Amino acid sequence: MEKQKRNTKTKQMVMGILLNEPVAARCHSDIVQQLDGKIDRVTVYRILQGFCDDGLVHKVADDNGKTYYALCRDCTSGRHDDDHLHFRCISCETVSCIEATQQILRLPRGYRMSGISCFISGYCPNCLPPAKNKRLKTYSQKS
Ligand SMILES: [Zn+2]
Ligand SMILES: [Zn+2]
Ligand SMILES: [Zn+2]
Repeated sequence: MEKQKRNTKTKQMVMGILLNEPVAARCHSDIVQQLDGKIDRVTVYRILQGFCDDGLVHKVADDNGKTYYALCRDCTSGRHDDDHLHFRCISCETVSCIEATQQILRLPRGYRMSGISCFISGYCPNCLPPAKNKRLKTYSQKS
């Protein structure tokens, strides 16, 4: 009973971090770090794996094989339906779920997509150089 209770609490803590920013994907070490050592790495990993099985969280691996976890929207236990893209900001290195797949990806006849896991790189809205002026300034400062 006690153990059950503790499990629920640790699960809630991990979920709390993911819910903090629903479109952000986080890697395992990132989550462990945010938990401030309150839950050990292995437990966090197991909890995340459990969320994946329950259709609450999906995993994406980047080109370095690093795995990120993000909240699912309409998935159910044992069935994931996350056909969206993931965007990684090359400046702040955050990864976000982007709902834009259907419009930009047109597969050749005879192919049917069941999932997608590719990463787009670029600047997120927070890091996008805000105006041409600023860029010009930077250039003029250099010269
Ligand atoms: Zn999912
Ligand atoms: Zn950014
Ligand atoms: Zn996603």
